Amino acid sequence: MTGLHSFLRELPAVDRLLQEPVLAELAGRMPRRLVLTAAQETLQAYRQKIICDHDKAGSLAAGGLDLSPAALAREAAALARCRARPGLRPVINATGVVLHTNLGRAPLAAAAVEAVTGVMEQYCNLEIDLEDGERGSRQVHLEGLLCDLSGAEAAVVVNNNAAAVFLALNSCAAGKEVIVSRGELVEIGGSFRLPEVMAASGVRLVEVGTTNKTYRRDYEAAIKESTAALMKVHTSNYHLVGFTASVSAADLVALARARNLLALEDLGSGLLFDPARYGLPPEPRVQDSIAAGMDLVTFSGDKLLGGPQAGIIVGRRELVEKIRTNQLARVMRVGKLTVAALEATLRLSLDEEKAVEAIPAWRALTAPLTRLRERAEALAGPLKESFGEEGVGLWEGSSRVGGGALPTAELPTVLISLQAPRLESTGLAERLRSGEPPVLARLQQESLLFDLRTVYPEQDALLLQAILDAAAEA
Ligand SMILES: *Cc1c(COP(=O)(O)O)cnc(C)c1O
Repeated sequence: MTGLHSFLRELPAVDRLLQEPVLAELAGRMPRRLVLTAAQETLQAYRQKIICDHDKAGSLAAGGLDLSPAALAREAAALARCRARPGLRPVINATGVVLHTNLGRAPLAAAAVEAVTGVMEQYCNLEIDLEDGERGSRQVHLEGLLCDLSGAEAAVVVNNNAAAVFLALNSCAAGKEVIVSRGELVEIGGSFRLPEVMAASGVRLVEVGTTNKTYRRDYEAAIKESTAALMKVHTSNYHLVGFTASVSAADLVALARARNLLALEDLGSGLLFDPARYGLPPEPRVQDSIAAGMDLVTFSGDKLLGGPQAGIIVGRRELVEKIRTNQLARVMRVGKLTVAALEATLRLSLDEEKAVEAIPAWRALTAPLTRLRERAEALAGPLKESFGEEGVGLWEGSSRVGGGALPTAELPTVLISLQAPRLESTGLAERLRSGEPPVLARLQQESLLFDLRTVYPEQDALLLQAILDAAAEA
């Protein structure tokens, strides 16, 4: 007991701790309360440590518990610095997953960033018609471009695609039934489950067919007086292979027309470009669905469109008008920053050749293998100096599109592998994540893998430095 009390007494008071130069200096640079809280929390943590370990109290000091004000102040300073950093900040994505939902999906093109900055710093004509000075709609900045790119009559943009699906169903089919194939009842990222979104929107889901096969006659047999629509959902994060059958957009539209029903399609990813041109597997494009006759088509702004988070609905004018005047549209409306970023991204998309260069997600998707290899080789040299010849390898591998798009696409890539038994890969991965900038890599058994496809070429030097720093810290 005496050991415990004497150790507790050894802890300096908060005021004493704050006099340590490292903390005094920090308090001049950041809100004092951050430094004070960090000092209090550090002392509390040590008090706890001493109490928990009090059986072994006699050996606490021997166990390396340094209770000097200088040592505690260093810890408090590290905590305060950590707290003073913004919570949300840029990271280097070396995972090779191009549209990584947890890493913010699509990074914006420079033109989109510029557009956002412009309307952020100043007033803008978000909802005013500059010709007559009358109140306008924020949607006009987007609708023309969306119609042009998709071939649709009308368009409306909401907060995300889940909202777009919800709003489309609620506006056009509430209280009625919507028929969907069992093979298309998707769950995206855990939080979007089609059956649940449909239920919440007030429509009754009628499932037809089986998991692997659904025919036109299955839809046909399920049509009743209370049916409002036939809906097709793109299986954007999985792919049925083998003994399968589904009804094409055109066939679904033909059936809907014949029975005076709506044909709806949730595309998910919002592809506008021809995937075959870039060696990517087939994926339905927005303009194909519209051309097939779909009455409403929904998709995300931050998947293959490569823009900001948004949900886009394109289709027939009178339906879009219903959606726009739905009270809930106000709940899900987009802010001016989204309008600016999306408008700029759509403008870029008018010229496909330029767009695949300017939109980061497309630049990553279309990065030539030879270039990825050159960059990986350039980093491997200096890494070998730190990790040794055996510690660094260049592997053939594949990147993924991610974010609920092109689930089967395997994009050939070159991976830098680091085997660092001394450092232990998980430990190194942890230090990379907590560095500045944080780096996210792929952990595979004993190796840490870096895929440069998702690293901006101008970040290569920064990435190298981050890895060397993380290794030196060990
Ligand atoms: C991604 C996706 C959604 C959800 O879109 P969010 O923009 O993430 O809300 C809905 N449906 C499909 C088919 C999707 O792929």
